[in-house]
Amino acid sequence: MKEDKSCPNCGKKLSLFYLKQNCPACGVDLLHYDMEGRLERDAQKAAKEVEALWRVLRRADKARLIEKYYQKKGKPFPWEDADAAEPPSAQEQEDQCP
Ligand SMILES: [Zn+2]
Repeated sequence: MKEDKSCPNCGKKLSLFYLKQNCPACGVDLLHYDMEGRLERDAQKAAKEVEALWRVLRRADKARLIEKYYQKKGKPFPWEDADAAEPPSAQEQEDQCP
């Protein structure tokens, strides 16, 4: 718990024993003001986590596709730069053929 209590909207210092729902200075809804802020931050955090997870999944999926490609071609896996690796173009394949 915080030692002092102040309005999250206007910053007015409130008594620890001020238990009404609305700020006496600006009238903001103290209970729900903070709650909405928390919920919004939680939602943003959750969205970021989902986005991060999705990126990991996409990367994993890409890695699997590259792995399959290299297995088909009988080539060693390009683990060193797996993040940047793209399958060689048709042009490069022709160049490597004897
Ligand atoms: Zn206020």
